[in-house]
Amino acid sequence: MSDPIFPPAHPFDFDAVRDPDDGDKLKEECGIFGVVGVTDAANFVALGLHALQHRGQEAGGIVSHHPDHGFNSARRFGYVRDNFTRASLMETLPGQLAIGHVRYSTAGSKGQTQIRDVQPFFGEFSMGGAAIAHNGNITNAEALRRELIERGSIFQSSSDSECIIHLMARSLQRDIPARMEDALRRVEGAFSVVAMTRTKLIGVRDPLGVRPLVLGKVGDGWCLSSETCALDIIGAEFVREIEPGEMVVITAEKGVESSRPFRPAKPRFCIFEHVYFSRPDSIIGGRSVYETRRQIGVELAREAPVDADLVCPVPDSGTPAAIGFAHESGIPYGMGIVRNQYMGRTFIEPTEQIRNMGVRLKLNVNRALIKGKRVILVDDSVVRGTTSRKIKEMILDAGAAEVHFRIASPPTAWPCFYGVDTPQREKLLAATMSEDEMCAHLGVDSLKFISLDGLYRAVGEAEGRDTKCPQYCDACFSGEYPVEPADMIEKGFQMKAAE
Ligand code: SF4
Repeated sequence: MSDPIFPPAHPFDFDAVRDPDDGDKLKEECGIFGVVGVTDAANFVALGLHALQHRGQEAGGIVSHHPDHGFNSARRFGYVRDNFTRASLMETLPGQLAIGHVRYSTAGSKGQTQIRDVQPFFGEFSMGGAAIAHNGNITNAEALRRELIERGSIFQSSSDSECIIHLMARSLQRDIPARMEDALRRVEGAFSVVAMTRTKLIGVRDPLGVRPLVLGKVGDGWCLSSETCALDIIGAEFVREIEPGEMVVITAEKGVESSRPFRPAKPRFCIFEHVYFSRPDSIIGGRSVYETRRQIGVELAREAPVDADLVCPVPDSGTPAAIGFAHESGIPYGMGIVRNQYMGRTFIEPTEQIRNMGVRLKLNVNRALIKGKRVILVDDSVVRGTTSRKIKEMILDAGAAEVHFRIASPPTAWPCFYGVDTPQREKLLAATMSEDEMCAHLGVDSLKFISLDGLYRAVGEAEGRDTKCPQYCDACFSGEYPVEPADMIEKGFQMKAAE
């Protein structure tokens, strides 16, 4: 396999793509996409990854296979649109089978991300090559890595996901899908995987189905994607979600063959995908993400009403919930905060002075609308609270009479270990403060979060959360982890005491 056009030698400027308030939002770490049975599959993958860019902005990679040219790959830092639209690059990725990955590395690794950490990863086995792209987080990766290194594996990257390739190499199974099954049975945590051999596109979801993966049909071919919004961009038809614990092996000739290689478990899909990570134009579990978010706003207005003159979203992810809140409360909706859509690449080399402007670089207050009003601000979450404080100051500077925060998720009091970048527990505002203390800390007139039950109702669970057997993963709110985070416990992480 070759990477015929090498990435730029100069260091990548992460600040150019990082949010200036990085660390105050939970960040999805990956998006994955794969296609089989279409001409120039890599072009379809590039478009799919472009639609999944919200799931990872730091780097992307594509691997393709052509019977005459073998496997080819390209991995780049930065946005898909800046790299994988260049004909000179795409011509190096021929074939009817391709997979790709977009990545957001964890905040702690800033400046350390290397091109070798960018997926898809590739392995050459006796029965042929295979590439894999992984969304999620392996909670026993460090233990696996230690074991594999002791037994002779030589890792090329610092990524957890590379364990899967090494576990496959150690399997004695005779074909690649069977080796993947073997490997993934050793892996704990959350994984949605898109993989390819010379002829097969493979998709797998972990037994709990924590991270999403959907199947689409495009012309005579098939595709796999983290979200349905990426099917729309290539004109693919949504077929179904890959079920938790399901593996699909797809070939141009035989179509989709499904199997269940793992012990059955009760699904625990990530509830935060509904709140924030997924795009609002995606469909999850048969529900429109936009509609679910709007319904969260409705529930929030019922649970935490307040007298006010204006409901404003914190754009963009707070918008559907604000629309729902305004509709339910009867309080007028207005765009009191306007996002500068071109933030990000604007300041290629941001100066200290520009960085200190922080949130003002990306959000501006609509003064004419705000002045003299009692304003309800609807946001998707509060993580460290630093952005919320700045937004409150901007709103008051613009002459608002009162500021009330309504948050479309319960307090985020626990870190995620399943593929979402979260600050350490001590840095989470809700881990150390009660709701009243957070309200005082933010300096707002009132602060209310949707309850966990209210969130469950909004995602379609009419009876709310089943406390004995929760229907979703909600560990970042509840502290109840569906898979024990073994590596973190070894490092001293304290799980919540059983009640
Ligand atoms: S801990 Fe939170 S963000 Fe992580 S998978 Fe569970 S619900 Fe999603």
